[in-house]
Amino acid sequence: MEQVKEQEGLASTGTFCPKKECRHYAKVDEGNLIKFGRSRQGVQRYQCKSCGTTFTATRGTFFYRKHTPLKDILETLALLAEGVGISSLSRAKGFKEETILSWLREASRHSEAVEGVLLEDYRLSKAQVDGLWTYVGNKGQKGAMRRARAVESSGAAR
Ligand SMILES: [Zn+2]
Repeated sequence: MEQVKEQEGLASTGTFCPKKECRHYAKVDEGNLIKFGRSRQGVQRYQCKSCGTTFTATRGTFFYRKHTPLKDILETLALLAEGVGISSLSRAKGFKEETILSWLREASRHSEAVEGVLLEDYRLSKAQVDGLWTYVGNKGQKGAMRRARAVESSGAAR
């Protein structure tokens, strides 16, 4: 299929169809989206001309990645927000810790959009989502040193 080279990170204008069954799913710049009013919160809505799905920009403004499905990224971030440790997630999901951290860093750059998705679709609380950003806010603190020590004592010692 078509490769979109410059969209390695995030779809900057947030425009891809979030419906998995749609042939335009997670593809940007295919001209299938039209603006479709705004949500009550004032978020831009779009409609996919191809499948008819309407969605807010927050849904479509997230990671556009080739290799990892959007859903997996969101799910991982949601679990992280719920307090699952990065090392456990890494083991359970098979993603590298640094990969997860890089998602987190990207997410934090688009925190508004990401927050919208996590709050809406994953039923997280604002506090939980805020907790996510502290990961990238103080990377020094929650770093490998502490984990290396704590991991044998089950890691949950807080
Ligand atoms: Zn569509």
